[in-house]
Amino acid sequence: MNIVLMGLPGAGKGTQADKIVEKYEIPHISTGDMFRAAIKNQTALGLEAKSFMDQGALVPDEVTIGIVRERLSQADCEKGFLLDGFPRTVPQAEALDATLADMGKSVEHVINIQVEQEELIKRLTGRRICKECGTAYHLVFNPPQEEGKCDKDGGELYQRADDNPETVSNRLEVNMKQTQPLLDFYGDKGVLTNIDGQQHITKVFADIDALLTNHRK
Ligand code: AMP
Repeated sequence: MNIVLMGLPGAGKGTQADKIVEKYEIPHISTGDMFRAAIKNQTALGLEAKSFMDQGALVPDEVTIGIVRERLSQADCEKGFLLDGFPRTVPQAEALDATLADMGKSVEHVINIQVEQEELIKRLTGRRICKECGTAYHLVFNPPQEEGKCDKDGGELYQRADDNPETVSNRLEVNMKQTQPLLDFYGDKGVLTNIDGQQHITKVFADIDALLTNHRK
């Protein structure tokens, strides 16, 4: 079960990724999370990634491809994986194909969660995340019980540096430009499925689940 999850920032990739990895027991590989962890730990990778991320720009392909290649070679990826936020460029997609081919594998499903731009801006600028566990809330759509605190562990909620209104517009623009060639790339290979991301969270997952369950049969 080798899956790539796609969708513009705010489309609900993180939410659906949690559900997919729980049900199908595969690792969730998010390049954004890997970069944020590297920044938090002040590693060389983190220092390099931070300047790009703060501007809403993409981290250079050679850096990103390197960390994904290393991650995919780990034992827990043997029975499958869910890639989230990678690939974001055609060179990354080609590098992924080459890496997987070396392992006798391929991308089996590319799931594209579709949401309109206006809705994405609303979702992203209101997003708040727990410092402790990473759970995402929304000031209006999904507020915590107590303002500024995580329902799960009481951790402080913060706004991602790249979720401010100026950066959000740039991120969406960069992403839209980059995404179309990828959708074409995977569409041509016949592995792409579009999912309506403006439905209720449980219905979005039901659609994804139906696709993956069919695959198993
Ligand atoms: P995300 O959490 O997926 O929205 O990613 C946050 C930021 O991390 C992006 O705006 C980029 O700066 C960087 N990033 C994450 N994944 C990639 C990727 N595949 N290629 C380049 N940059 C990435």
